[in-house]
Amino acid sequence: MNLFGLVDCNNFFVSCERLFRPDLIGRPVVVLGSNDGVVVSRSEEAKKFGVPMGVPFFKVRDIVKDNKITLFSSNFELYRDVSDRIMFVLQEELGEIYQYSVDEAFFQFTEKSSAVAKIQLTDLKQTIEKKIGVPVSLGAGKTMTIAKYASEMEKRKSGVCVLSGTAWQKLTPQIPLSEIWGIGGKTSVNMRNHKLNFVADLLSAPESFIKEEYGVHGLRLRSELSENPAHQPTEREGLQKSIMHTRSFSKTTESLAALETAVTFHIERAAEELRAIGGKAGSLSVQIQTSRHGDWLLQSGRQEIILPAPMSDTRTLLRYALSLTKALYRSGVPYKKAGVVLGRIISENFVPVSLWDQYEKTDEDALLMNVIDNLNAEWGNDAVTFGRLKKGGQLDHDQHRSPRYTTSWNEVRKVERKI
Ligand SMILES: [Mg+2]
Repeated sequence: MNLFGLVDCNNFFVSCERLFRPDLIGRPVVVLGSNDGVVVSRSEEAKKFGVPMGVPFFKVRDIVKDNKITLFSSNFELYRDVSDRIMFVLQEELGEIYQYSVDEAFFQFTEKSSAVAKIQLTDLKQTIEKKIGVPVSLGAGKTMTIAKYASEMEKRKSGVCVLSGTAWQKLTPQIPLSEIWGIGGKTSVNMRNHKLNFVADLLSAPESFIKEEYGVHGLRLRSELSENPAHQPTEREGLQKSIMHTRSFSKTTESLAALETAVTFHIERAAEELRAIGGKAGSLSVQIQTSRHGDWLLQSGRQEIILPAPMSDTRTLLRYALSLTKALYRSGVPYKKAGVVLGRIISENFVPVSLWDQYEKTDEDALLMNVIDNLNAEWGNDAVTFGRLKKGGQLDHDQHRSPRYTTSWNEVRKVERKI
């Protein structure tokens, strides 16, 4: 039996914080993102106090205070490092994996039966939790969509779930379509209007209707839900893998503002291209180069990050790109060239409802990008820009950020032994 598996870290950012603050295990914790503006991760205890995902922080300030919830600003350097370690362990255990987001990865495996598969996944769960210390949920099924659902299903219980054959089919009349990966808010409302409420409803709807109403995406979805794989983790749906945008300066510059302007320009163009092919990027890298001559060469730098979720909104991409630029920049160094690469591109039709939807969830956001692309197409690339030529503003408000325990020598955890 060929199966897809999915590993998903539970309350990932909170779990990373707890690695170095074991005193917070069992206590309510919230991690804030977007300059401490929104809630991006919550412990189970914080969820019970009624802190919703993606909510603006000011709306829950009182709940946080009244219940003594511990707050953290996002410490992406720590989360990425923990993520890399988890992916490394997964590769060791499974061979090829497909990292889907900062805390999720798909893989394929073959087992004789669901029962054997469950034992294997339970082993894997224990290995990750022992080696890294972050709690994970594992799901498996005959398609990626079912594996994704399975990983959610047992999250708060055993954390391991295999759904195939009758085990899956029996559930389909009870699973709301709104809980299925890839069915966003708008589609789910539309489906409800057509009396498609549960997975079984979609499976028994006429093919011609699904094709007309939901297009190829709908057909693929139905195929996935009837246990026939329509998605392959390695397949990028025919999209190119990366988009690069780079250019040399007419003369070298030592100014951070000039580099930020250049990077902003490159992100604007690359993101426009990304949206034009209907893609979303899963990784972003920024490169700043010094002149090829002389000792400055060693000061060139390139840094890549895995984005929290696949995205294409220029504003969000810019926030990451500019903070990378700032991190790479060294004052007094003559820079010659700057560029960006948007990588791990997937089709926008294949982007799940994720915890990170607050970044790009609204139709208004997509519409805004569309309007900007059209204006630039009509009036030239500089018709609408994103604060270029202005000095980069203050980007990081992270007053609650924990130390970068694993990546910065100055912030390594200190242990003292009293003699
Ligand atoms: Mg997760």
